[in-house]
Amino acid sequence: MEYLKQKILKEGIIKEGCILKVDSFLNHQIDVEFLNEVGKEFKRRFSDKEVTKILTVEASGIAIAVMTAQYFNVPVLFAKKVESSNMDESTYESEVYSYTRGKTYKMRVSKNYLSKDDKVLVIDDFLANGSAALGLVNLVESAGAELSGIGIVIEKSFQDGGKKLREKGINLHSLVRVEFDSENNIVFK
Ligand code: 5GP
Repeated sequence: MEYLKQKILKEGIIKEGCILKVDSFLNHQIDVEFLNEVGKEFKRRFSDKEVTKILTVEASGIAIAVMTAQYFNVPVLFAKKVESSNMDESTYESEVYSYTRGKTYKMRVSKNYLSKDDKVLVIDDFLANGSAALGLVNLVESAGAELSGIGIVIEKSFQDGGKKLREKGINLHSLVRVEFDSENNIVFK
């Protein structure tokens, strides 16, 4: 994933609280050609797995999941964070602590779109302490579905989300693992 590393080095900005800001291509403006390569890479990494659905969480996960789903030819389901009167009444829910927002929120998916017959690939932009990923895994488990794996674009290896997921025996692929050195430079592991 050399092109991902180069993009992070060129465009990534380290903010207070160990936040890596990649708004120019992933979290605000979206570089479609770049994300298409990310989707292809996830397909390559999980090509031996059966996948019937890709699950992510709004908002930033959606574009990555969509790019990936076109290579698996499966639907994308995104967990909703925002409560809405439009949401089906019967939902699976997880409570998640948001690292970037500093508060707890509920993620929900309708029971209509996740079933015990699904084999689910979870996709997200960042992995920090693992709350979002574990929240998504919890939704998969609540539905009695099978987890095919988790694909993450950027894992911050100095936080323990990766460790938690690997210890649970989850098939986790992070396209890059980053840390910051004492001079706040981005370093790849
Ligand atoms: P976790 O739940 O693993 O602690 O954090 C992952 C979630 O928080 C991701 O879905 C992502 O939206 C957000 N996040 C965590 N760290 C960062 C970061 O350094 N940069 C950005 N842009 N988002 C982050």
